[in-house]
Amino acid sequence: MLEPLVRKNLPRLQHFYDRAPGPARHLLTSARGWVLTRLRYSRETFAILDGLRGHESWSSGQVADHQLQGLQRTISHALDSVPFYADYPRAKLRTFEDLRRLPVVDREDILDNQDRMLSRSVSGSRRIRAGTTGTTGGSLRVAYSENLARHNWAFLLRQRTWANIAPREPRVTFQGPRIVPTQRGEPPYWTYNVLERQVLMSIFHLSAKTAPSYLDFLRRHRGEVLEGFPSVLGILADFAIEAGLRIPMRAIFTSGEPLYPQLRAKIENVFGPGVFDSYGMTEYCGLIQECERGQMHLAPEYGFLEILDEDGNATKPGEEGYFVWTGFLNDAMPLIRYRIGDRGRWHDGGPCPCGRAFPLVVPTITRESDILRCPDGRLFSARALNQLLKRSTSFRCCQFIHDRPNRVVVRAVARDALQNGQTAGDLMRIRSDLQDLLGPSMQATAELAADPVTRPGGKIPLIVNEAAPS
Ligand SMILES: [Zn+2]
Repeated sequence: MLEPLVRKNLPRLQHFYDRAPGPARHLLTSARGWVLTRLRYSRETFAILDGLRGHESWSSGQVADHQLQGLQRTISHALDSVPFYADYPRAKLRTFEDLRRLPVVDREDILDNQDRMLSRSVSGSRRIRAGTTGTTGGSLRVAYSENLARHNWAFLLRQRTWANIAPREPRVTFQGPRIVPTQRGEPPYWTYNVLERQVLMSIFHLSAKTAPSYLDFLRRHRGEVLEGFPSVLGILADFAIEAGLRIPMRAIFTSGEPLYPQLRAKIENVFGPGVFDSYGMTEYCGLIQECERGQMHLAPEYGFLEILDEDGNATKPGEEGYFVWTGFLNDAMPLIRYRIGDRGRWHDGGPCPCGRAFPLVVPTITRESDILRCPDGRLFSARALNQLLKRSTSFRCCQFIHDRPNRVVVRAVARDALQNGQTAGDLMRIRSDLQDLLGPSMQATAELAADPVTRPGGKIPLIVNEAAPS
């Protein structure tokens, strides 16, 4: 029950953490690691992993049976314990077609009903709350339980076995938490989570000036597992290419944003052999993971995926449509037919040569966001700035517009004009957090807009760089 408590107090803990001396920060990171380790490497997690590994030999029929049972269990649990579903029809689901009697819900529906989406079966003290910003920078508060966290980790470990990686092999991680104070100007730009044999690297200190420290560090850790956001690994790969270096790692795991073909090639050239990508979401209602043969497999025990066209009809293999998920594992906030906003298609070729009968999906790759380049040489990926938006629920969309060499505008579109006070508060807080992050060489301002800045195809980049070539 520790994780809900830690999550609830993260902003306050971050304040304390930022002011702690270096060795104390390693200790605090390891203490946080201890809480996570108890979840991630518990006996229950390994039992789940054993089960999941056994499913890899399932036939397509066994996959379908499991998915139908998952839908029946999830829908019955949701109707019994979640106020939002109280009016849903109660007839038992007998076939996949029966699912179509239930409405599709989207992000807006969830935003408007955040508290009514919570299941009464998981008490408030056992709920872990987290923010997710999706593809447009509009934030959503979601809930899950420790039980889900264990399952989620077991799925991650299963993918690691596809790369012949055992649990707790040494790894270097470039993900979201702010683990080094933002104004720090000298190494270390990392901290150690000893129990997991993991080094957490700051994604907020990347610049031409700090590149040699990062590259030296990676060279000392060559041959270990590398994991992180694609755009961040791309920035590191650029540093290495500039320095004429190749730093082969044992295996590379990417997640958290789309992995573009060119970006993949660059990352593989520098840190290769191979990348294992995955597609998931903080709503924890579905998962797609890349196997050792380079195909993206739906994890059939995690959730049920429909791919629907504009009219709500199922698409044929090869045709692009909207992802609509029904998650099997999130008992704290079950989502039924949730249209998350991402798109993709069913693979239209034959089965995967890896032999697994898990369905093959091709997530659509949306347009890449720009990178924010500060005058002092620091680089921020979309995923790094995204961290600032996680607690703001009043926006439909929020972007960072780098419109002059020394200025970035936080540009938000309100979800509801009637919630003026909350919108203004969220906007001011993000502006102030951004200013802290950027330091004195840049000015952060904020404005409300009627519509987001879009690019061809309707894509909404998080960072729009109008001031400098990217
Ligand atoms: Zn495969």
